[in-house]
Amino acid sequence: MESLNQNDKEYLLDQIRDVKDFPKPGIVFKDITTLLNNQKAFAFLMDHLHRRYKELEIDFVAGIDSRGFIFGAALADRLNKGFVPIRKAGKLPYTTISQKYALEYGFDEVEIHIDAFKGDKEEPKVLLIDDLIATGGTAVAAAKLINQAGAKCVEACMILNLSFLDGKKELEKITSVYSLLDVK
Ligand code: AMP
Repeated sequence: MESLNQNDKEYLLDQIRDVKDFPKPGIVFKDITTLLNNQKAFAFLMDHLHRRYKELEIDFVAGIDSRGFIFGAALADRLNKGFVPIRKAGKLPYTTISQKYALEYGFDEVEIHIDAFKGDKEEPKVLLIDDLIATGGTAVAAAKLINQAGAKCVEACMILNLSFLDGKKELEKITSVYSLLDVK
């Protein structure tokens, strides 16, 4: 399957803004809004994802709340597949399944609709997508939810990977992981 060369990676990384000390001191927030509002850069990224994933047999794209919705919904439409949102607790209106995961202090929770992958297939194949993987807690919980909901997470696509953390390694224990841009 297609991946990016070094020039393409540098081009895309240049479109993402670093915001220091957001949302709290010591965090460098990777702001993808500067990529999204650049038509050429957004199309470049989506063209790449489309070329890569038209070769993978999938039935749905699932995106993580909330920036995963932007890339996930755009990609699902290009691939002519359905889109499934994985949301923070309390946001989905119908019956849900949930997964809790540990944060530095306390826990967080993601949910999916119980019938999210209803269709003619017994175990539909799902591509999971989000903008960034850090500790991996969110993506691991999301991949588990997909499998609990009767589908199979066949790959997780993360636009950015904070490679100084072990999130990608944790996620690889559950599914194949494609990260486009490594942040050191
Ligand atoms: P984690 O569960 O630690 O892998 O965190 C991943 C989630 O938090 C993703 O949904 C990201 O959008 C968000 N996130 C974590 N760290 C950052 C960061 N430095 N910049 C932007 N988003 C982040």
